[in-house]
Amino acid sequence: MIEQHHLYLEDTYRFTVTTAVVDAGDAGDGPWLALAENVFHPQGGGQPADTGTVDGVPVRPYKATGTGAPPGARAAHVVRLGHPGDRNFAPGELVTAAVDRTARLRHAALHTCGHVVDGFVRQAGYRHRVSNHFPGQARIEFDAGDGPRPDLARLAAEVEERTRQAIDAGLRVGAEQRDGRRLVTVAGLPADPCGGTHVTSLDRLTGFALRSVKVKGGVLKVGYRVEHKAGHMAGQKED
Ligand SMILES: [Zn+2]
Repeated sequence: MIEQHHLYLEDTYRFTVTTAVVDAGDAGDGPWLALAENVFHPQGGGQPADTGTVDGVPVRPYKATGTGAPPGARAAHVVRLGHPGDRNFAPGELVTAAVDRTARLRHAALHTCGHVVDGFVRQAGYRHRVSNHFPGQARIEFDAGDGPRPDLARLAAEVEERTRQAIDAGLRVGAEQRDGRRLVTVAGLPADPCGGTHVTSLDRLTGFALRSVKVKGGVLKVGYRVEHKAGHMAGQKED
């Protein structure tokens, strides 16, 4: 397996890098390549993949072990090339990779806010099942339990209020490596293993609201919306 450095894990606000191609090929259904300094987040953990370009060619990031990845890739993360035209990429050459900023920040906002909503619903006594952080569909599902039907209006009001307070307080988002795993701490809630992209503090979120809170088939579904503040779309730090 070829070593790569994953920039997206260290800095959500790093959008471009000039780096070397470390592996490349064509599995018959289109060319792909892997970068030494990988700036692209692949789909995973309920979060969509980044979009972006390599030397201007549209790319789609994948985990090399995941669905849709090309066979024979020797790096952990690869990108498939959209329409390379006559552009050929070979190991060793330097390229410039660029992440689509709008999508990156939207995904990071939804994903980070998902941790907060998830944490407060868990603190209310529900066990996490699955997360979906896709724009327009962001939703976290929990076991509703066998007991009496929960007071959903009360639960929604409590989770919404606590999440708003955490955002207003601008609580920090932390990440650390422990025992080979990346642990992420948001809003003082218990640390969770996570490989996604996050905002650095919750005051970068805006427009938060719960979309729906309902129980169906023993599953509590909590839908929400949130966006990243526009001031950071250009990647400029305001603070
Ligand atoms: Zn996360």
